[in-house]
Amino acid sequence: MEELDYIVIGAGSGGLASARRAAQRGARVALVEVGRLGGTCVNVGCVPKKVMWNAASLAEGAQVAQGYGFTGELTLDFAKLKAGRDAYLVRLNQIYAKNLDADGVQLVTGRGRLTGPGEVRVEAPGSNPDAEPRTLRAPHVLLATGGRPRRPELPGQELGITSDGFFELTELPRSVVIVGGGYISVELAGVLRALGSEVTLWVRKAQVLTGFDPLIRDALTEELVKAGIHIEVEAEPTGIVREADGLTVRGVGHETRGVDQVLWAIGREPNTAELGLESVGLTTDEGGTISVDAYQNTSVPGVYAVGDITGRWPLTPVAIAAGRKLADRLFGGAAEARLDYEDIPTVVFSHPPIGTVGLTEPEARERHGSAVRCYQTRFTNLYYALVDHKVSTVMKLVTVGPEERVVGIHVMGLGADEMIQGFAVALRMGATKADLDRTVAIHPTAAEELVTLR
Ligand code: FAD
Ligand code: NDP
Repeated sequence: MEELDYIVIGAGSGGLASARRAAQRGARVALVEVGRLGGTCVNVGCVPKKVMWNAASLAEGAQVAQGYGFTGELTLDFAKLKAGRDAYLVRLNQIYAKNLDADGVQLVTGRGRLTGPGEVRVEAPGSNPDAEPRTLRAPHVLLATGGRPRRPELPGQELGITSDGFFELTELPRSVVIVGGGYISVELAGVLRALGSEVTLWVRKAQVLTGFDPLIRDALTEELVKAGIHIEVEAEPTGIVREADGLTVRGVGHETRGVDQVLWAIGREPNTAELGLESVGLTTDEGGTISVDAYQNTSVPGVYAVGDITGRWPLTPVAIAAGRKLADRLFGGAAEARLDYEDIPTVVFSHPPIGTVGLTEPEARERHGSAVRCYQTRFTNLYYALVDHKVSTVMKLVTVGPEERVVGIHVMGLGADEMIQGFAVALRMGATKADLDRTVAIHPTAAEELVTLR
């Protein structure tokens, strides 16, 4: 039995951040990880996705370059791109290991499972008969085991891949059906299309990104179509079969034939099923997530949860911030430390990207009725001035009350990904429309439109 102050199960975004912060505050910490350090974000999420998004942006840039007078064609060596990306991730895994060492966090490799209050048993991965399970004890245990891609229960579902499988592709598929209309769907659709695949989206509602502001949702749908992505709306698959010319996806009133790959992007499910929750009397919600209060406490004293398993804002910076605040509260003397889940900014790395923070117009109208006033614009970025394929930028400010406090900022277009962070600071500080108007514009940029909206 090994006695510690803090056991963290899961070395992804939330677990790593919390374990390191706790150790920096002087706690004796064990971090249990069954897979690669860094979890989803580093290995099969944000990081490899952003590398692919960069590759796709370069491919688009090569097209735009023709309009600027450049000649010659750029061709993609997909295998080289994958090898470079994979090597980069290994370097990140190593950096994470070094950081844990430097902070004095004990890394315990294996699958962790609660076996009673304050007790975690770790089974070494693989079937090594000599590897004895280890039992760790601590008054505080953090569950940060993240999630995995969901697959539907349909005949032939196993013929499809998920985002994990996307990162294993060694060649660019000629044609792909992506099922789902959320973050992963539109991001990977943009990447695949820009790199040259034929892409068909199957979305079960009338448009993509259903929870986003209607201006953004509709503008992105238009851009996806303009980029040559085919969208089957109100389409839910009932099965996949392999035929001579490739995979066929069937649904009621819909069919797409002869594709190389089908990619399920229909959400993710939390890794909570094999965590031994019953041993401490902890139950999950419908969907398998673990409920926490504002301080990341579960219903069981001494057991906490952060990140995707809580089902709240499944984003890396949210998991990191919640994990650090928790460690500050438990080991740093900051009794009131907690993450404020209001007004979390987010970017969808679609082509073009989306940056958004705060309330959508429908959410604001539901909360504040006729006190809501919106300002919006649509234009073509100067970047596209010399090319035929123009890509729109759209922006919306949602304001409330006579003082026109900004409660929502929504942008789709070139640069939106880098634009929204600073504007999110302004929104959280309570900026009004007049504050934005008083700020001198930076010309010629797209961002200047946000301070000159009429
Ligand atoms: P994870 O990062 O999933 O880490 C959980 C860890 O726990 C894993 O390493 C797992 O192996 C380990 N584990 C599980 N069970 C056990 C066990 N029993 N014992 C030991 N270890 C265990 N977010 C963004 O903010 N920006 C993005 O651009 C972005 N892009 C994404 C792209 C894709 C394709 C995906 C899938 C996700 C993306 N996300 C993005 C979301 C982001 O990756 C997650 O929100 C984040 O990784 C959640 O962190 P976490 O700590 O909760 O879990
Ligand atoms: P999302 O929740 O974003 O989207 C899931 C999509 O699948 C929705 O369009 C949903 O439709 C659809 N769907 C759900 N069930 C079915 C079904 N049975 N059949 C057909 N369609 C279905 O999940 P993702 O998997 O795209 O991403 C998971 C999370 O990871 C995101 O919510 C985000 O928090 C995070 N992420 C963040 C990124 C970033 O920060 N840039 C990038 C990638 C992921 P409907 O709209 O009708 O419900």
